[in-house]
Amino acid sequence: MAKPLSILFVSSEVSPFTKIGGVADVAFSYSLAMRELGHDIRVMFPKYSQISERKNKIHEINRLKDILIPVGKEKIPATVKSSSMNNNKVKVQAYIATNDEYFESRKGIYIDPRTGKDYEDNAERFIFFCKSIIETCIILGWFPDIVHANDWQTALALAYVKYLYPKKFAKTKFVFTIHNFGKQGEFPNLQYSKIGLPDSLQNNFLHQKKINFLKAGISFADYVTTVSPAYAKEILKPNDYSNGLHTALEAKKDKFTGIMNGIDTYNWNPKIAEHLKTKFRGDIEGFKTANKSELLNEFDLKPKPNTPLIGMISRIDNQKGFPLLIDSADELFKENIQMVILGDGDAELKKKLQKIQKKYPDKLSLKFEFNEPLSHIIEAGTDMFLMPSLYEACGLNFMYSLNYGSIPIVRAVGGLSDLATDFIPPKNIGNSFSFKNYLPKDLISAVKRATQVYKNQDQWLSLVKNGMTANYSWAGSAKKYDEIYRSLF
Ligand code: ADP
Repeated sequence: MAKPLSILFVSSEVSPFTKIGGVADVAFSYSLAMRELGHDIRVMFPKYSQISERKNKIHEINRLKDILIPVGKEKIPATVKSSSMNNNKVKVQAYIATNDEYFESRKGIYIDPRTGKDYEDNAERFIFFCKSIIETCIILGWFPDIVHANDWQTALALAYVKYLYPKKFAKTKFVFTIHNFGKQGEFPNLQYSKIGLPDSLQNNFLHQKKINFLKAGISFADYVTTVSPAYAKEILKPNDYSNGLHTALEAKKDKFTGIMNGIDTYNWNPKIAEHLKTKFRGDIEGFKTANKSELLNEFDLKPKPNTPLIGMISRIDNQKGFPLLIDSADELFKENIQMVILGDGDAELKKKLQKIQKKYPDKLSLKFEFNEPLSHIIEAGTDMFLMPSLYEACGLNFMYSLNYGSIPIVRAVGGLSDLATDFIPPKNIGNSFSFKNYLPKDLISAVKRATQVYKNQDQWLSLVKNGMTANYSWAGSAKKYDEIYRSLF
């Protein structure tokens, strides 16, 4: 094998320490996959108040205690701590930046639960985090071959490495991955001087006259990736959510590609998953029936024979297609179905969902919370899994669902259009039911096609069986990243 590389992978969320979106799952499973390829990969993230030191065996490193991080004209104290994550094969070192004011004293991660809005100093919080990444490397005397940053929160790390310590990091290359092009870290009121970089670099941050951290990540990276080939094509074109930033990608076109995420085949393996009381032991019907009954009980729904149970686990926002679901509800619940939704987010959308739940109490049940163990039971206990997304960079839940025997019904956009092949009954080919147009009638028609096939239990079982044997491990995609890294030297 070629010489292993040293890689610092920085992400604002890393599972199992903290998770809001798919980037956290990727940070975990990707870094373990790269470690399995032999690389010295280490991850770094901020310590939010939800992260328990005891549970995660987080400890101090003497050299990284009480260090001072320059932010604007101030020096902010930080202590960088250590922990690790592992699967049953390898272990990855984790560095965790702690600071009371910016992270530990706050209940929310990006959003202040008291106001329901973004923290006003989010820019400063992540400037601090990105600077702490660089200072950590300097103190450790570790100058990795690759710094791989993810999404706007860590984008500035690339610029700091490149321009604050050009000599120390002279050999370091920079990769930037976009997990959501709709979230750009746009800060109209931020003074550029706070960022602490030369004025000559300001244009790399400015998009439509506002400071845009995502643009900086794209500009400073040696290579940019996103998390599926179809999403890469979508975001190169103008669209409703990208705020015109496709122009920055267009300028980087030759150094930009989409690579499908893999999944964590350790924690999301139905044979051994910690959160499943009834694990998969080879009997699909037994596995699904036991988990369905536990799930219905958990959601206070009465079991109904011959009725498919549909699940959703998602941030509740426009991106995930909740307005479409809401507009489809009356037609949808005419069908013989039951549905459970786990998620949290937009207050208005939640209110609308509650109204629908009151109208169809024996068909729909909701839980507005973040609950990782329950998310496993939903995947294992549902027959179908709905993703009517407006846009979707990858769509990890598609893969978790198939692994757990829940058949996806999806809007074929972004990563979902790479993953979904429509099930065609007479031919018995395809893995899911999909629709293209963001319209209630198209969503309903996909659900109807699924419920029709469900009536033929033999056919349904063979569809489920095919899904459960699909391989979504990181093996292939980790090699693609390996090739990109090596192409930069
Ligand atoms: P995104 O990153 O756009 O939010 P993804 O589908 O890539 O979407 O990843 C979201 C991940 O977070 C999935 O693994 C999903 O199951 C999980 N998730 C979302 N909301 C919840 C919740 N309320 N409880 C548990 N897991 C959740």
